[in-house]
Amino acid sequence: MQEYFEKIYKDKKNNFYNLIKENIINENKMFIVTANPETLMISEKNATFKTAILDDKTTIIADGIGIVKGSKMLKYNIIETIPGVDLCSKLFEYCNELKKSIFLFGAKEDILEKLVDVIHCNYPNAIICGYENGYVENKNNIFNEIKELKPDVVLVALGIPNQELLIYNNLDKFDKGIFVGVGGSFDVLSGTKKRAPKYFRKLHLEWLYRLIKEPTRFKRFFTSNIKYIFKINSCKNRRKK
Ligand code: UDP
Repeated sequence: MQEYFEKIYKDKKNNFYNLIKENIINENKMFIVTANPETLMISEKNATFKTAILDDKTTIIADGIGIVKGSKMLKYNIIETIPGVDLCSKLFEYCNELKKSIFLFGAKEDILEKLVDVIHCNYPNAIICGYENGYVENKNNIFNEIKELKPDVVLVALGIPNQELLIYNNLDKFDKGIFVGVGGSFDVLSGTKKRAPKYFRKLHLEWLYRLIKEPTRFKRFFTSNIKYIFKINSCKNRRKK
């Protein structure tokens, strides 16, 4: 587990946002993985995914509070979470401010269209150079199309680990771009799914709100989080010896 925590971004959220903004301006390439305990548990079972997220070219941020708590237990001081949804909004904001381009890939067609409307309305200077729903047959082909458009930001919402693997396997085709796997963020930012109310977020209980709203997630959430707690504890005990 230590290899993940060594790699996860540890500075303040605002410094991370500044770093991204600089990278957009300087046309540097960046691949960001927004990690929660489930991400790390999938990585423990999927060697290809593990290679992708631990690659030197990859930046991992703490999407959920579980990662921050785990880091404290292992004495890696990750200060705060940088939720994927917030990162997405920040990227829209920067594209608006800097008149940069975005490609949106993933989610259902109606959700994507709603999101495009939201961006046009709230971030009028951001350039949506293209979008594609996440249910097309050949997702690699879409990446060939994205390559031709040379976007400044590419957001991929296909769920873990598919979104990250797709980005990682295509990254070498690009000279610039901020690439992020954003999970269910399009559903939230399009206004289709509600984000947890502020008091849930303040208490770091966004995960609980999501479970209440989508109880089908319970098994997936429970299994990965229990495994995660065991892994963190055994890692902590090994470090004590
Ligand atoms: N999705 C997609 N194509 C697929 C499977 C999923 O576009 O083949 C989308 C789905 O519609 C949703 C997102 O991927 O918008 C993943 O959402 P989920 O909440 O499962 O992601 P998480 O954040 O939990 O990884």
